[in-house]
Amino acid sequence: MKFETLPQEFLQAREIIERLQEAGFEAYFVGGSVRDALLGRTIHDVDIATSAYPAEVKSIFSRTIDVGIEHGTVLVLTKSGDYEVTTFRTESTYTDFRRPDHVDFVRELREDLKRRDFTINALACNLSGEIIDLFDGLLDLKKRQIRAVGEARARFNEDALRIMRALRFSATLGFEIEAATAVAMADRAPLLTKISIERIFIELDKLLLADGWQAALRQLTESGAWRYLPDFEAVSVAKISADFRFENSAQAWAWLSLQLTQLNLRKWKLSNAQIKAIEKIHAAYKLENYQLSDVYQLGLHACTLADALKKAQNSPVSRSKPAALDRQLQIHAPSELAIKGADLIVLGFEPGPKLGQLLKKIEHKIVMNTLKNTKKEILDYVKTQG
Ligand code: ATP
Ligand code: MG
Repeated sequence: MKFETLPQEFLQAREIIERLQEAGFEAYFVGGSVRDALLGRTIHDVDIATSAYPAEVKSIFSRTIDVGIEHGTVLVLTKSGDYEVTTFRTESTYTDFRRPDHVDFVRELREDLKRRDFTINALACNLSGEIIDLFDGLLDLKKRQIRAVGEARARFNEDALRIMRALRFSATLGFEIEAATAVAMADRAPLLTKISIERIFIELDKLLLADGWQAALRQLTESGAWRYLPDFEAVSVAKISADFRFENSAQAWAWLSLQLTQLNLRKWKLSNAQIKAIEKIHAAYKLENYQLSDVYQLGLHACTLADALKKAQNSPVSRSKPAALDRQLQIHAPSELAIKGADLIVLGFEPGPKLGQLLKKIEHKIVMNTLKNTKKEILDYVKTQG
């Protein structure tokens, strides 16, 4: 297999490979970009693998950044873009089932491709557009299947995150997981408890946002791997319309939190901002109806995302339209109040909890449209409050 012309994204980076070759090293495009180019999908990161050691890479290019030098990765800055250039490497003895104890830099492409997770991710491409396919990745691309490089059980033993990655690629590419690979996934799934929750989150999040998320969740259930994810149950996608796709991560996790009664987002190490966004959609979903104050507190977007979930699950949305309520709101945040605490202090109010309560009351009345958000109206109201 050969590209007649290299994809544009590769052409832009050709200078890097040329320079490495002129210095006597081998260099190739590798990994996800080769896979995506062959599938005609959008290419995001063009990764380059080379026989040059990191110090050698740095001596060849004038502008580089050490982004992961202990793993052999140097970021090379060029006029046409920044590219990660990684030395061919092997990874040895995963005693903790998480990360390789150390990586060894090697001079052979084969060794580097051998340590990669799936055959479709173990393809390399040279400057002439020829595909180097040592593990029948091209055949698997054609069969639209995900298959481990080498012995599947051993590969998941080395790094159980690959179980989540297999499910994630099945969701993003719409591929099947090859039978022996699927058996090994189910067998090695208990090792997922050794993997950091942040890394699992990244894969599950990508899975949920992909076109094929429902099929992938069914496979998560079938493989039994869900048992080794914190707070998980076997998630059913039976009730949600088959073509529904999540608009963003918060909506996906809100849906998940509605399925998994035990789900504790702190355990999944999400940020406060992420948790807040998810909880708002969850709360909006649970409401019988929207009041002005709900739309004010949760925000229009959270309400719309919750309504989309309801609709996708065919539960009748007989609630007021949040957009209509949102248009009636005079303010969308406390900062938009026509009066500040300081204004009231100038008028002789004592700073303290009482003043805070008064401001809250003003805010509520303005949200409920029983008070106008102008300095004059608010001051008139304040005078009636003693
Ligand atoms: P994406 O399009 O999502 O970036 P990708 O294939 O580029 O997909 P990355 O996670 O960016 O995936 O990894 C780049 C490459 O590194 C993969 O294609 C694969 O060859 C290799 N790789 C990444 N993670 C692992 C892993 N856990 N085990 C083995 N190889 C891996
Ligand atoms: Mg990538």
